[in-house]
Amino acid sequence: MSNCAIVGINWGDEGKGRMVDLLTQDYDVVIRYQGGSNAGHTVVNEYGKFGLHLLPSGIFRKGVVNVLGNGVALDCEALWQEIENVTAGGVPITPENLKISERVPLLLPYHRDLDSMEEARLADKQYGSTKRGIAPFYGDKYQKKVLLAGELFYPERLRAHLADILEYKNLIVTKVYGGKPYALEDMLAWLEEFGGKLKPFICNTVQYLRDAQRAGKRFLFEAQLGALKDLDFGIVPYTTSSNAVAAYGPVGAGCPGVKLDEVVGVVKAYSTAVGEGPFTAEWFGEEADKLREAGGEYGVSTGRPRRVGPIDLVATRYGVEVQGATTIALTKLDILSYMEKIPVCVRYVVDGQETDEFPFPAALDAAQPVIEYVDGWHCDISGVRRWEDLPRAAQDYVLYIEKAVGCHVGYVSVGAERDAIILR
Ligand code: GDP
Repeated sequence: MSNCAIVGINWGDEGKGRMVDLLTQDYDVVIRYQGGSNAGHTVVNEYGKFGLHLLPSGIFRKGVVNVLGNGVALDCEALWQEIENVTAGGVPITPENLKISERVPLLLPYHRDLDSMEEARLADKQYGSTKRGIAPFYGDKYQKKVLLAGELFYPERLRAHLADILEYKNLIVTKVYGGKPYALEDMLAWLEEFGGKLKPFICNTVQYLRDAQRAGKRFLFEAQLGALKDLDFGIVPYTTSSNAVAAYGPVGAGCPGVKLDEVVGVVKAYSTAVGEGPFTAEWFGEEADKLREAGGEYGVSTGRPRRVGPIDLVATRYGVEVQGATTIALTKLDILSYMEKIPVCVRYVVDGQETDEFPFPAALDAAQPVIEYVDGWHCDISGVRRWEDLPRAAQDYVLYIEKAVGCHVGYVSVGAERDAIILR
């Protein structure tokens, strides 16, 4: 296993953080390649429990180099707060184990404000943004109206470039949203404060990764969110604003010539989603509350209660395909232990026709789930560490999923702790 991506197969929050935390022992470099501080991973290890938003999950491993690639939305203030939280837990973070690409564009305070302004304008048609500025940021990136982290080392150019950007940005803020214009000096002061703190970590990571690759180092690419939130392949427009799919990994990481040898697709044993948009197998009421409580399904970044439902095999199969997953890590199997019978969404009905194919976004609203039930195991499996010790019904559930989505389940997770894993 030389280069590997760990990605979400569904709507995000599948437990990618715990898988990266586990697998970093086999890798030298862990790279975040997309997204910003809008979603979070939870990692539980010997230092404690941490909610990570921007920091790569390899930050807890001695000897592992963590890289924030050019595909990331870098909010200097959010990252600095996270560095402070994690270092307060006793984890060393230095320019040796954290490297920020000089090519990563900077998310500024006005991106966050514009996110809120746009959600307010959309009123009851909101996308369900986390209001961390991600959509306005990526919009600006593609319009080439962003500063790159490396520009912090060129103060004169930075001032002139930011002045040009603000001239345009303030037109939008004032004319479209009726807001107050942003002052150049305020933005420069913010950059000096938070960007200044990050300067020791900013470097030419493209060169670093090239040299590391030549030296035979193994790369782990870490995604945020899942296939169904991918900008191109997800439930548009209720997606994130970047590409979460593994194929984008080497590009967003800063090593576009590197090939992925393995893609670990993380699938939760049931479904959860945050934000708006179609979620075909969704549960409501008491049944949903029970599952949400059992799984602790509240957002890491926002604390929002997550939407929940049974595992959706149509969406999962599609996720496995677009991610090019070579192995599945099935997480949170232990959470289903309370269920007598386990519901599974096996197909959709769209316009009176049963289908196994994940529909085009415009057709998804009309999709209805077809639910089948498999036997539960009704006992605590959180202490199990070997496949043969899993109750037969739990094994059958895993095998059922494996067959339905056509991808080997190589890992079964039965707890949040690093060692609560069954290898198959
Ligand atoms: P991510 O963004 O994909 O990393 O997922 P989150 O961190 O949002 O959600 C996963 C949550 O489930 C975290 O609180 C993990 O600590 C926890 N978790 C991960 N795997 C398991 C598992 O197998 N069992 C249990 N009980 N909790 C798990």
